Amino acid sequence: MVDSPLVNFKGRHLLGIDDLSADEIIGLVNTANRFVEVSEREIKKLPTLRGKTVVNLFFEPSTRTRTSFEIAGKRLSADVINISAQSSSVVKGETFKDTVLNLASMRPDALVIRHPSPGTPLYASKFAGCPVINGGDGAHAHPTQALLDMMTIMERRKSLKNLNVAIIGDVLHSRVARSNISAFKRFDANITVCGPKTLMPAHMDNFGVRVTHDIYEAVEGADVIMMLRIQTERMAQGLFPSLREYSSRFCLDSKVMKKAKPDAIVTHPGPINRGIEISSEVADGKYSVILDQVTHGVAMRMAVLYLLCGGAD
Ligand code: ASP
Repeated sequence: MVDSPLVNFKGRHLLGIDDLSADEIIGLVNTANRFVEVSEREIKKLPTLRGKTVVNLFFEPSTRTRTSFEIAGKRLSADVINISAQSSSVVKGETFKDTVLNLASMRPDALVIRHPSPGTPLYASKFAGCPVINGGDGAHAHPTQALLDMMTIMERRKSLKNLNVAIIGDVLHSRVARSNISAFKRFDANITVCGPKTLMPAHMDNFGVRVTHDIYEAVEGADVIMMLRIQTERMAQGLFPSLREYSSRFCLDSKVMKKAKPDAIVTHPGPINRGIEISSEVADGKYSVILDQVTHGVAMRMAVLYLLCGGAD
């Protein structure tokens, strides 16, 4: 593994975990770890990206991703502009391509894009004229989430090698699950996915993961228990009878956690649905690293902006 984080990222896009090697993931985690301390300072600012401009272009709601990209850019002294679809000319009928071309004409140094359609950041990368970072595209990919998850897990487990991982919930609609499966596989994890049959993509075994519909079986022996939100906004029709029935079978609560290893960790990308996929007792309890993930989200996005915008120069 490389120990220099200064791998060659300048000018590249970050569209998916598939673009990254295991060494590059470790390089990004190492870089992010160096930025953690900046957020602990009284004056949370480095001059590294002074004179650079980062545009956050969000066509879907976001709390953590958008805010942490904004904070990350500002802590590195970049100018950060936030645009949401509702407040842009998209509501007047402007196309996605025209919106990106117009923003590109203002010469930003990075464009962070969140969009409900898979592949939109890739499409934008063809004409954006600057690094494009995928901030989540439909059910496809959310690379910075997987990177901050790797950082959080590495802090607790010291290594990402050969972990037993359980990914539980609405796998079908989860870009977080897809990006994390891709990341874990680079480190030879044993991955079990769990959820109702209707929320499981077809041919999951092609991903090289084990499938179960029993949450107790999924949790047993897991080092990392990754919970996913039920994404009702992506469901065309009811894919399970009711939330009550869903939670009676797939909610991670203290009873299920009795099956877990004493040093297991529980992650969730947020927003959490308390009492649906995770009980408050578990979300706020000793196994949970959910708020560490949020803290690491800022450091990881600092690392990504720093490396892609050439801060390492
Ligand atoms: N915040 C994550 C995402 O944007 C997970 C979620 O929304 O459930 O994909």
